[in-house]
Amino acid sequence: MEQKSKVSWKETLQLHRRAFLIFWKQNPKVFLSRSVYALVKALTPYVSIYLSALLVNELAGGRDIERIIVLAAAVVVSTLGLTVLSECIKHWDWYENAALGQNEEKIYVEKMLDMDFVDMDNQKTHDLYSQVQQNQNWSGWGLISIPGYFETGLRCMISICGAVTLTAGLFLKKIPDGKGMLMLLDSPLCILAVLALMIAAMLLSSSLATKAGRYGAEYAEQARFGNRVFWFFLYELYENNRALDMRMYNQQDIGSRYFTSNNMFGAGSGFDRLNRGKVGVLQSLSSMVSAVFSGAVYLFVCLKSWAGAFGVGSVTQYVGAITELSSGMGGLFGLLGNMQNNTKFLRTTFEFLDIPNNMYQGSLTVEKRSDRRYEIEFRDVSFKYPGSEEWALKNVSFTFRVGERLAVVGENGSGKTTFIKLLCRLYDPTEGEILLNGIDIRKYDYKEYMSIFSVVFQDFQLLSYGLGENVAAGQRYDEELVKKCLKEANFGKRLEEMPEGLDTKLYKDFDDKGVEISSGEAQKIALARALYKDAPFIILDEPTAALDPLAEQEVYENFNKIVSDRTAVYISHRLSSCRFCDVIAVFDHGNIVQHGSHEELVKREEGKYYKLWYAQAQYYV
Ligand code: ADP
Repeated sequence: MEQKSKVSWKETLQLHRRAFLIFWKQNPKVFLSRSVYALVKALTPYVSIYLSALLVNELAGGRDIERIIVLAAAVVVSTLGLTVLSECIKHWDWYENAALGQNEEKIYVEKMLDMDFVDMDNQKTHDLYSQVQQNQNWSGWGLISIPGYFETGLRCMISICGAVTLTAGLFLKKIPDGKGMLMLLDSPLCILAVLALMIAAMLLSSSLATKAGRYGAEYAEQARFGNRVFWFFLYELYENNRALDMRMYNQQDIGSRYFTSNNMFGAGSGFDRLNRGKVGVLQSLSSMVSAVFSGAVYLFVCLKSWAGAFGVGSVTQYVGAITELSSGMGGLFGLLGNMQNNTKFLRTTFEFLDIPNNMYQGSLTVEKRSDRRYEIEFRDVSFKYPGSEEWALKNVSFTFRVGERLAVVGENGSGKTTFIKLLCRLYDPTEGEILLNGIDIRKYDYKEYMSIFSVVFQDFQLLSYGLGENVAAGQRYDEELVKKCLKEANFGKRLEEMPEGLDTKLYKDFDDKGVEISSGEAQKIALARALYKDAPFIILDEPTAALDPLAEQEVYENFNKIVSDRTAVYISHRLSSCRFCDVIAVFDHGNIVQHGSHEELVKREEGKYYKLWYAQAQYYV
């Protein structure tokens, strides 16, 4: 985690290498365009430095008009050509980079979908993911920095090679004899002093800049909460689904007060104070060191030129090249400092990406039975949620077969949803086992086992795609089957009104002509989606909660037809809607305290079901 503050160079290089390989595998072309761009960007200044030097030398020396014209034309043409070339490459690079952010997001989304549900359902995982996001949004820390680092590193290295080539003459060209004290400039000691000054200035300047960057990185950690508030205030607070409550209860003021009291970026914020204080001072000092060094170089070069070692044109060449050299080396050192600062953020990224899949993955195939004779048995199953001391289920033993309609009832918190989650193997039991046709469900291939269930969770989600795509959960689908499922889910009449039939987009996110649907209609579409999957088990969590009484009645009347030969497991708070089920399992404090048909259960006055039934029934009498 980010609290571990010591960062070694070994770790810095290891984590960045790993991050680089992730991007390289995903976006190889980005690195090609970045390399070409870095090459052109790094070499462009040298072409004009070199040609201008030749031109000035000619103007100050030989004054051959033809040569002057050729050199002047070369300066103009090369500058023009390189500018156009660099623009073209920049646009090519943009094009290659366009999908970079999305591709990176894909890495995280795939990880989320791939990890065991138990981890995905864990608040710690979501906190970690939101840290990764915030670090990135804050100022590009984490994985996303890699392409930029790659370009900077390459550009600086090419720039250094170019500069060394053009600077060599500065030290090799000697001052003619008889120039007195000035001849000391050619002494090895003086050359060493200039080189030492250059290295010292670069190290000092880049270490000051890195230190300034480190304050920014540390502030990113302090500012995490405020940053969350900022995103919430800017992007989430005004989402459609919150708009109504916001207006009804006039909650804008709370939002804006929260925002101002957690001011992260504006005047008077911690960030502002840092920039005006330590960060500002360090950055100014860093620029000052570079400027002093440039001054010293000017002095050295001008003195050598004055003493006659080279022409006045070469002064521009050497000053330009040595400035590029120091900025190239400074850039390289700065990059290393940035990488060290970024290492903490990469730790968080990899902590998220390295969450292991601990769930046992079996390999047995689930028998595809044409008679759909499946039997599920809970054998003395107990379960605690990770990190919780309480038993959510305790010693549950229960068997049911395909073709049965099972209703699961009980008070809030009695364990109904947990029972379904264990059945679908979103979690494994803490004790006991669940068997499918006599075999522990952990021994089956996970995906195959999941394929025998269709579930409509209470908080199901439809996507802003076409209606048909939503029902089929895919782009290609059997139109007739989709229509049949929609009709069975009581959506037939509404389907006829859809302007583009199955192609009608739901909601308006991607299409102005998209259709806004009510929550009841959405529930019917979700039911149709579960039917389309045609799995032997269909699990419905309050499937009629959003339906009006008439629509609800219709679903019940057609329920046998809808469910057909599948097993239906059905969670409901409305006991009247459970009457049509063959078996009702009554949950209480994590256990099944009664099971049987409605007629049997309602007779037992001492039972939980009797209490629940009459608590509701009194309002209907
Ligand atoms: P029901 O569906 O009957 O309302 P649940 O199965 O959701 O009940 O919950 C059973 C018990 O497990 C409750 O005490 C609840 O607080 C607890 N519980 C549910 N989900 C979690 C979770 N993700 N982490 C910890 N405890 C949970």
